[in-house]
Amino acid sequence: MSENSHTTGKRILLESITKTYSGQSTPAVNDVTMEFAAGEITMLVGPSGCGKTTTMKMINRLIEPTSGRILIGDEDVTNVDPDALRKRIGYVIQGAGLFPHFTVGNNVGLVPKMLKWDKKRIAARTDELLELVGLDPADYRDRYPGELSGGQQQRVGVARALAADPPVLLMDEPFGAVDPITRQRLQDELLRLQEELGKTIVFVTHDFDEALKLGDKIAILDQGSKIVQYDTPEHILAEPNGEFVEGFVGAGATLKQLTRARVRDIELHEASVAHVGDDSEIALKGVRDIGRKHAIVLDDHERPLRWMSLKELGQQNLLDNVRKDPELEAVTLNSSLNDVLDTMLTSSHGVVVVTGRRNAYQGVVRVETVMDAIRSMRAEGAASSRLGESV
Ligand code: ADP
Ligand code: MG
Repeated sequence: MSENSHTTGKRILLESITKTYSGQSTPAVNDVTMEFAAGEITMLVGPSGCGKTTTMKMINRLIEPTSGRILIGDEDVTNVDPDALRKRIGYVIQGAGLFPHFTVGNNVGLVPKMLKWDKKRIAARTDELLELVGLDPADYRDRYPGELSGGQQQRVGVARALAADPPVLLMDEPFGAVDPITRQRLQDELLRLQEELGKTIVFVTHDFDEALKLGDKIAILDQGSKIVQYDTPEHILAEPNGEFVEGFVGAGATLKQLTRARVRDIELHEASVAHVGDDSEIALKGVRDIGRKHAIVLDDHERPLRWMSLKELGQQNLLDNVRKDPELEAVTLNSSLNDVLDTMLTSSHGVVVVTGRRNAYQGVVRVETVMDAIRSMRAEGAASSRLGESV
C-alpha cells in the first residue's frame, strides 16, 4: 500500500459560477466565487434546495454552468472534454451508486478499465483499494453489491472514486443513508484515508456535526449557494455569522468542541490485556497485579474480542476459545470525543476500547478523560465569552 502523507490534491476555484435551469427564473447557483484549498476537506452545509448538488455537479460537468468558470489547479476545466474530466474527479453519492450487476471488483476497476489500464494493473489496484477502505479483497472482490451492507457498499463507492488516484474527490451526502454507528466508522475511515492521501475533498452534508467532525473548513450556504460563512469549524463555533449560522450550530456551541477533539489528541490508558490462548493463571495474575476487575482479550492480530471478568478468566481454558462479543463497541484514533461519549453510553465499562490500523488495540479512553476535556472546554468557553463582553 502506498504511504503518501503529502498533498496530492489540487485546489478548485469557482469563479462567478451561475446555473439557471431552463424554465426557471431564479438561478439554482447564483454568481458563486469560492476556492477549495488543495489537500483539505471542505464541507458544504446548507438547507435542502440551496444548490449544493448543482454546485458539485458543475465541478465535474455533470451540469454545465450558465456562466463563470472553474479551475482545477491552474487548468480551466470549463471547456475540457467532460468524460475525460470525470475520470480525474472522484465522485461519491448517497447509496454509493454501484452497478448492481457488476462485482465489487469490477465496480472499483471501472475507471481504470475506461482508461485502458492492462488487466494485471487493474486487478492489483482494485485489491489495493479494497484493502485501503477496510474490505478484505479475497472476501469481497467477487461479490455483488446486493450482498453487502449499506456501509460496505459505501466503502466500495469510496474505493471506486479513488481508483484512478484523482486529485479531487466530490462527496455528496455520501453517508446520509447509513445508520449512526456505521456513519461514525465511515467518517473515521475517511479521516484516516485523507491522512494518507491528502486529496482535495468537497463534501456536502446537511448534518452540521458531520461538518464539524470532518471539515478543515466549512462553507455555510443559503439559497443560490450564497456563502453565508466560510471558515474553520473552530471559528464558526466561536463566532457564528448571524442567526442563519446559529441555526446550524444550535445550542451548546462549547460542547460541540467535543466533535472537533479527536481520540488521538487525548491521553489513552492501558487496560489489562489478555490474549487468546494465554494461560488463565497468568492472565488472572496480570489483571490482579494492576488492581483491575476485567481484561480485554485480543486475538493474535491484536484485535479486541471481548471483555472478561476475573471470574471468567478464572475458568480453566476459557481463553482457548474466545469469540468476538458482537456488542463490543470500539472507537478509532480518528473518532471524536462526541463519538466516544455516545459509545460510552451504550457500554457498561466506563471505558471505551480504542483501535488503530487494521483494528489493532491501542488502549482505552476513560470517562474521566472525557469529563476533563469537557471541563476545560467549558472553562475556555467562559473565558472567551467574558472577553467578548468586555470588548
Ligand atoms: P441541494 O443539493 O442543495 O438540495 P440542488 O442543487 O439539488 O440543491 O437544487 C437547487 C435548486 O435547483 C432547487 O430549487 C432544485 O429544485 C433545482 N433543480 C435541481 N436540479 C434541477 C433540474 N435538473 N432541473 C430543474 N431544476 C433543478
Ligand atoms: Mg443535494
